[in-house]
Formats: sequence, C-alpha cells, structure tokens
Amino acid sequence: RTLTSNSIRNSFIEYFCKNHGHKFIKSSSVVPLCDPTVPFVNAGMNQFKGVFLGVVEPPCARAVNSQKCVRVGGKHNDLEVVGMDGHHHTFFEMLGNWSFGDYYKKEACQMAWDLLLGPFRLKPEDLLVTYFGGDVVIGLQEDRECRDIWRSLGVPASRLQARGASDNFWEMGATGPCGACTELHYVGADGSLTEIWNLVFIDCNREGDGSVKRLRRQHVDTGMGLERVAALLQGVHSNYDTDLFRPLMDAIHRNSKGVGAYSGSYEPDAALDQAYRRLADHARMLSVCLADDVFPVASLNLKQIMRKSFKICTDVFQNPQLLNRLYAEVASSLGDTYPELIAKQNDANLIIDHERESYAKLRADLRKKWKGLVQKYPEVETLADIELAGFPLGYTEFKETMSKMKCATIPGEIVFKLYDTHGFPEDVIQRIATLNNVDIDKRGFWNLLARHKSKHKTAFKERAQKELAFDNIIDRLLKSNITRTDDAYKYHYLYE
Ligand code: ATP
Ligand code: MG
Ligand code: MG
Ligand code: MG
Repeated sequence: RTLTSNSIRNSFIEYFCKNHGHKFIKSSSVVPLCDPTVPFVNAGMNQFKGVFLGVVEPPCARAVNSQKCVRVGGKHNDLEVVGMDGHHHTFFEMLGNWSFGDYYKKEACQMAWDLLLGPFRLKPEDLLVTYFGGDVVIGLQEDRECRDIWRSLGVPASRLQARGASDNFWEMGATGPCGACTELHYVGADGSLTEIWNLVFIDCNREGDGSVKRLRRQHVDTGMGLERVAALLQGVHSNYDTDLFRPLMDAIHRNSKGVGAYSGSYEPDAALDQAYRRLADHARMLSVCLADDVFPVASLNLKQIMRKSFKICTDVFQNPQLLNRLYAEVASSLGDTYPELIAKQNDANLIIDHERESYAKLRADLRKKWKGLVQKYPEVETLADIELAGFPLGYTEFKETMSKMKCATIPGEIVFKLYDTHGFPEDVIQRIATLNNVDIDKRGFWNLLARHKSKHKTAFKERAQKELAFDNIIDRLLKSNITRTDDAYKYHYLYE
C-alpha cells in the first residue's frame, strides 16, 4: 500500500492532534504579515514569530499545521538549485508542530522519533541525527542535553553527529527568532543524506545589531518537508516522482509538442529533465503565490520566475499557454488543502495571460534590438545565436554561444547588452571569454556603463520624487476608506 501525500499530511496532523493534544492551525498566506525581514513566508514558524518574541499571546500551548512555504530570496534561498536536485523546491509544504513555552527537547524528540518509526514505519538504521555542536561567535556550547536525549531514545553513537551553526543553529532571517536545532536525515542506499525533519529549540532572538539574545521562554518549532517524506514513504527516487509532481510532469508532456516524456535523469546534460523539474516547481510556486494575491507588479521575484517559466514553456515545450494549464493541475492537486487555489483560479489566469502577453512583447522588442546590433558587427555573426536564445538568456546558452564565437574581441556594446539586458556580471563574461580565447572590449563596455549610470542617477532622482507623490496617493487612499485591494493595485499600476 502506498501512502498518498494527502494521507501523509493528514496522519501527521492527526498524530499531533489526537495523540498529543495539539491544536490545528491553518497555513498562513505566503505573504509575510507586516514583516519586512523576509520576502516570503519561509517556514511554519513565521506566523508565530510574535509569540516567540513574547509580544503576542500564544493561540494555544501546542500547535500543528501544514504551511505553504516559499524559499526565494532572503536567507533561505533555494531558487538556484531547483531542477538540479530532487529535493529542493521554491515552493513546498512544511509540516510542523510547536510548543509555546510548553513541552521542550525531550518530548519533542520523543514524539518525532515515535512518529517516524511508528505510523511512518521508517527503520532506525536508515536514519542519521545531527545536533548542535556549539559556536564560539554566538557564544553557545554543544547541546549535550539533546545528544543524551537521542542516546536514551536508542540512537547509536555512530548515527549521532554534532554539527556547527551553519547546519544546526536555525535562524528565520537576518534577524528574528533562532535556536539550536537537531536534524533527522534519511540515509540512502548509496550513503547520501537527505534531511527530512528539523526540530528547533527556539530560545534566542537575533537582534538588528547582530547579537543573539536569550528569550524569556523556551519554545519548540519543528518543520518537515512534505514532498521529501512523500518520496521516502512512496519509495521513489525523488520528490518529482511522488503523487505531488507526477500529474504535473504528465500534464507538461500531454500539452507540449514533439517533446519526450520526463525520464528522471539528473545527469548534467539532461537538459529536458531539468526543464521539466524547473517548470513543475515554478508552476506550483507561481500558482500558490497568485492564489495568495502576490502581484507580479509588486514582487520582482514573482515576475522573474514567471518570465523564466514562460521561456521554458515557449522554447522547450512549444506551448506559451502551458502555465495556465499547470495552474489548473496545481489547483486540483492542492485545492482541497488550500481552497484559495480554486477560489482564485479566474484571477490567476487573467494575471498569467497579462504577464505572458507583456513578456512576449518585451521579447520581440529585444529581438529587434539585438538584430540591429548584430548587423553592425558582421564579424560576430555567431552572436545571432544569442538573439535566437531570446530573453532572458540562460547561463548554459550563454556559455555555448561564447564557445562558438569567431571574432577575437567582443565589442563593448554587446558586452554591455549581455550585462544590462541579460544580467551577466562582468567577471563572468570575462571568464567565459578567456576560456574561449576571445577578448572583450573593456574600455568600450566601461564607457557605456558610465553613461548608463549617470542616466540612472537622474532616473533615480525622478523616481524618488514620484515616490513622494505615491506616498501622497497612499495617504489619500487610507484617509478615503477604500478597502478594496484592487483599487490599490490600480494605483500601483499607475505608479509603475
Ligand atoms: P536543506 O539542508 O536540505 O537545505 P534546510 O536545513 O535548509 O534543508 P530547514 O530550514 O531546516 O531546511 O526546513 C525544515 C525542513 O523543510 C527540512 O528538513 C526539509 O525537509 C524541508 N525543506 C527545506 N528546504 C526545502 C526546499 N527548498 N524544498 C523542499 N523541502 C525543503
Ligand atoms: Mg536549505
Ligand atoms: Mg539543513
Ligand atoms: Mg534544517
């Protein structure tokens, strides 16, 4: 019998509610509530930050939930690895249980261990546990109490490892609640480790000045990635082979033209499989964000991920409308748990349509400009490949194009375009050029850059003035009692 991800989510919640007296608390939106320290909600504990800091009354003594999390930007940013491995996503669900000044380390470890070995039927010999080994800068010692708890629960010393702050001192962001943690990892047949569950003992706060101060009370905050446990309990190789992703992979295949099915390869040259994984991941992230009213105008992160996805839909899967199809797929997979995905389906589709059209227009404009530029330099005719690759140019495409380059020096104007339009840092352009025995016209590039910067300064001043005007609009909005968010959205458009 294979467990579905729905039944895993439910049995986690039931275990803590029924067996251990926790109260179920609904997932918050992925938009942080009045918290500018994180770009998105990145863990289950975000909505309880005030409770940990002692400024909000706890809603109960023990809580459990499944939280929609997005790890793009900020301290926990996994965007760059998505597609490369089978267990890091931009969006994932975090199953968690909390003690607000109630139980502490012993009970937390015991409950976690019993769930994994009991209802989840994992074998202790397949698990490895890490705990906090101390840190001089933070001024905290090895967490021997935690080590002894695991020993008493039957974890052999060979399966228990002390690790430093980067692994076992969990922090929400640059500031905020933090504490020593203990992580449970699954040991694969090849000896590889996948972290599945993190138990954090929150008793500190990272202050704005960088210091770590003790809190008045001690709390427990745990987080387990649903997609990772699903892969484990369903006995599949990666999160993308679970019931949370398979329907998306199939939908991509069904709705694309002349492209092979997902084969699940992680070889560095498995570009198609990588595209499948990226698109499936981004589709989930975008859908959840749109359902939570994150607007692409307001969130640069969302806009960029959307553009990357449109590029994959168009270039790899030959179907610009694919993202709309995938929204429906995500809504049918997660809509029972997060009903906003269904409620917001129409709005989300309108926004996707709007963004797709403006992206297509932008891409066509850029293509035209590139063409003009490339014609001016007939000796760099291979750069036409860049134009074909379109916008935004990926790193791999850029490297390939450079290796085909026939000219000895890349004109400054083109270097500047690579830098400005495609976002490649100068040193990266230089390094890849050197590897391919071509030079770049640095002087020409720097001249253009200087001109661009002085233009930018003027634009910046104008923007600051506009911002003042924008503040006035907001002020007026607040005073005029407008409550509908789409009115504010319209103003945002005007401002842009
Ligand atoms: P890793 O070391 O694998 O990057 P982490 O230590 O950064 O994970 P935590 O902040 O401890 O992760 O989050 C708690 C749990 O959430 C992890 O144990 C893991 O199961 C899950 N998780 C973390 N990041 C991701 C992600 N990007 N995609 C899917 N699940 C994740
Ligand atoms: Mg991580
Ligand atoms: Mg970790
Ligand atoms: Mg962790």
